[in-house]
Amino acid sequence: MDENLLCPVCNGTCSLLDAVDFNKSCEEKNGKFLSLAGTPVRYVLCNQCGFCFAPDFANWNPEEFEEKIYNGAYNLVDPDFVEIRPRANAGKLVSMFGDRAHSIKHLDYGGGNGRLAELLRESNWQSVSYDTFVDKNTRVEQLGKFDLITAFEVFEHVPDVRKLMSDLLSLLSPNGLILFSTLLSDGNINSNQK
Ligand SMILES: [Zn+2]
Repeated sequence: MDENLLCPVCNGTCSLLDAVDFNKSCEEKNGKFLSLAGTPVRYVLCNQCGFCFAPDFANWNPEEFEEKIYNGAYNLVDPDFVEIRPRANAGKLVSMFGDRAHSIKHLDYGGGNGRLAELLRESNWQSVSYDTFVDKNTRVEQLGKFDLITAFEVFEHVPDVRKLMSDLLSLLSPNGLILFSTLLSDGNINSNQK
């Protein structure tokens, strides 16, 4: 373990939490197990802010993420990504903002297949989706400004969370709102808002 390993969020010192096989996934709780990859993945925990991350992924480039994780088999280990999670999040947002949302510009950052924004447009929202792995020819600076930005289950997927937060802030209108959710280390979803 690299003794000088620092937290990418707060620069705090970190301790080894666990090491698991690369093919371990959240679907194991549903009885679906992939064969062992034989590659260990270290997870460390920040002693100061509690952020959990996999330091070995920090040096991967986007092509490596695309090849090894966000590939054609990704839906096998995160089937809710396709429809269940976007539909649940759309329902929550519609009930949270009501008709007021129709007059604001909304961006779903890290929106994958764009399903959440699509569902919201059916409810008369001005929603667009952006995902670095889908909209590869679009730069963040080209997107414009948004009154509401959502980033559901995005923070735990990016190696540089400071860059992510700086991108989100650069896209936010004055008095805009960022809503995000991420996983706690016990697997529960934790929502936060700015
Ligand atoms: Zn930290």
